Amino acid sequence: MFTFLKKIFSAIWSLLGGMKVTLGEFFQKNITIQYPDQKAIMHERFRGKVHLKIDENTGLSKCTACMLCQRVCPNASIEVVAGKTAEGKRVLRKYIYRLNTCTQCGLCVEACAFDAICFSAEYELAVYDRQLLVMDLNSKKVSLKVENES
Ligand code: SF4
Ligand code: SF4
Repeated sequence: MFTFLKKIFSAIWSLLGGMKVTLGEFFQKNITIQYPDQKAIMHERFRGKVHLKIDENTGLSKCTACMLCQRVCPNASIEVVAGKTAEGKRVLRKYIYRLNTCTQCGLCVEACAFDAICFSAEYELAVYDRQLLVMDLNSKKVSLKVENES
């Protein structure tokens, strides 16, 4: 008899434990968003696509074209094209990024000693034309003396 009552009590206790979790979730704030009318705010560690940072003082990319990110990328997703200004300073000409082969591993971001790249929070990256997945991230150009130096 005692064993029987013990089993019933154990079953009720177990049921209450499950109900506690269910009720806890039931009264949580609703996290469903009405996409695409509403956009999700991504976590700050989210890895969208590689993004070139801009130096606030110069208005140009912080990238020095050292090519370290290109060397560490295991998928050859980065191609840095350097040039020289009239003063002979080495500067970034093009920063070709291939999103179609990038695995968001983060090695390039970790390798950059100039804090010039990071991951963006973009997540709507699907396109119909795969050519659009290959892009030049350097939109802030400087006037260059040498047209094509790598
Ligand atoms: S992003 Fe960083 S590591 Fe890559 S070329 Fe520019 S400065 Fe060098
Ligand atoms: S995140 Fe990884 S795969 Fe993508 S460009 Fe950087 S190093 Fe290459």
